[in-house]
Order: sequence, then C-alpha cells, then structure tokens
Amino acid sequence: MRYSNINFPKTIPKVELHRHLDCSWRYSTLVELAKDLKLISSTDVREVEDKMLVTQPMTDLNSVLKKFTNAQKLLHSEAVLTRLAYETLEDAYNDGVLIIELRYSLNFIQQASGLSYDKIHSALLAGIDKALKKYPIATGLISIFQRDQDKAQLQRILDFTVQNKSVFIGADLADNEAAAEPNNFKWLFDQLHHAGIPITIHAGETPDALSPQRVKDSIEILHAQRIGHGIQSIQNPDVINFVKSRNVHLEICPISNTLTQAFANRKSHPFRELYENGVSVSVNSDDPGIFNTYLSDDYHYLIREFNFTVEDFQKINKMAYQASFIDEALKKKVWSNL
Ligand SMILES: [Zn+2]
Repeated sequence: MRYSNINFPKTIPKVELHRHLDCSWRYSTLVELAKDLKLISSTDVREVEDKMLVTQPMTDLNSVLKKFTNAQKLLHSEAVLTRLAYETLEDAYNDGVLIIELRYSLNFIQQASGLSYDKIHSALLAGIDKALKKYPIATGLISIFQRDQDKAQLQRILDFTVQNKSVFIGADLADNEAAAEPNNFKWLFDQLHHAGIPITIHAGETPDALSPQRVKDSIEILHAQRIGHGIQSIQNPDVINFVKSRNVHLEICPISNTLTQAFANRKSHPFRELYENGVSVSVNSDDPGIFNTYLSDDYHYLIREFNFTVEDFQKINKMAYQASFIDEALKKKVWSNL
C-alpha cells in the first residue's frame, strides 16, 4: 500500500501522459555527458543552467533554442539512449509515477546520432526492458512527428511507426503550432488513424488568438483523442464545450507553461478553471531533463498556487488513467495494488 501525503507529492501515485523521453535526463547524467562532449567546462550548476537548462521563464528564444540543441547532442549513441530510457523509468518510479507514456522523435534523435530508426528504437526498448524487470511500472512509447519536417521525412516516420504499431501506443504532432496549418498534416494523421494508432496533438499552448481554434482543428481534422497542453482553450468557452463533448483529454504541463510564458504569471494558469469546468485533465512534466524538475514539482506548484488536495489528484489521475493509451491489462497490473 502506498502512502499519500499532500506535503510530500512524491508519495501520491501518479499517471503521466506527456513527457518527452528525448528531453528527460537525470541531472547527474546530463552533467556527465555534457562534460564528456565539452558542452560545459565545469560541473558548476550556474554553467549547467546557463548552457543546458531552462529554469527561468524564457525571454530570449535564441538562447533557449541553443540549450535544446546542446541537449540534443547528448543523444549520440545507442548506449546513451538505453541509459536514458532506463534512468527515466527508474527516476519516475521513485517519484511515485506508476503509469507513464514516453514520447520521442526519431528525427530529433537521428539528427544527433546518425543512427537508423531501428537502432534508435531498439536501444530505447533495451533500456525500457531493463527497467521493467526491476520496477512495477507500466509504460509505452509515442512516436512524434514534427511540424517542421518535410513530407518525405514524415512519410519515413509514418512507415516506421505503422510497421511498429504493436510497440507504439500512439502518435503525436509537435513543434511550433502557429507555423503550420493542421490541414497540412491531414494526409498523415488520416493514415495513422486508419492504422488504428491513437492520436495526441500538441496544440493550444501558444498564447495567440488562433490557439483555441487549433485545438478544435486538431480534434476535427487530425483525429486527436488527446491534446498536448490545450490550455488556451480557456480563451473560448465554445472550444471548452467542444473538447468536453468529444471527451478529449488535455495533457497539461504546468511548469512548462510558466517557463514558455504561455500565461502572464504562475497564478494565472487555468488548470483549476479547466478542472472545475469538468474538462478531463492530467498533470505532466513535458521536458523534465531540460527544466531540471520531477513530476512532483508540478504537483507542488498546483498545491502551492491553487490549493489542490490529495482528493483532487486522485480524481485527476483517474482521468489520466482512463485517457492513457497503454493497454488496460498493463495499467491494471500496477494500479490495482493501491
Ligand atoms: Zn510536449
């Protein structure tokens, strides 16, 4: 029996649906690898923050992009990928996460490693297998498509994802949502949908007037059952009602949203409003390796700013459990012990 205590969110049993495996470093490993690759010259925390981490609200986009590029360079070999997957699951389990969906971009890792899709995928699976032998945690991989990829690249990842659909539990579309029309990706997500692969789309994160419409379009045009972020739905009650009527789940990443300045300040995040409105929501860490956070830190944030209780988190994790793409039998195995 697990112990749940609001003062110690690590002990709350959690379901996480939105975490980028390729940005999910353990701090000590990130420092070690960055030093080996000479991306940093010392292990001084200020230098690590300055070159590798996003820990303050972003003001200078170029310096943030440089940090992601630096972190991408760490993904350079199969051994590193296996270690990344293993340590991600080990740390998640020790943080009270029992069900976790991990998403990654074959393109992002291939740019850094030059490895084939097969080798990337197998290396990550080796780390996952090793962790599953040790920890009772349910997990599954989501294949990410990036909005800035050309059609030939998207087609290659589509082929790989469909060929491996017994392993991939879902597909996602990521990167700058304002840069490309949802319609550009209809051909791709139609095929994923027809192949029976569940779909989540990054949308409604960026604070502009068209953001709520992109949430709606992702559901209507791209078959999204879940939305990554979706917080900007708060701008339009009709979109909130639409999300609810379609039983679409919002994967909300509170700390990530403050760092990207999706809202003016920590207090103005709409998590509680969406939750009280009856929208299906979950708490997620997004890129914890780059933000230097654990999922518990997102819980801390909601407790501190919005007085969330253990009972609230039980309800939220139940919604996350129901929205998870992981096989029901696997989920039950780890969740029924509670
Ligand atoms: Zn994300």
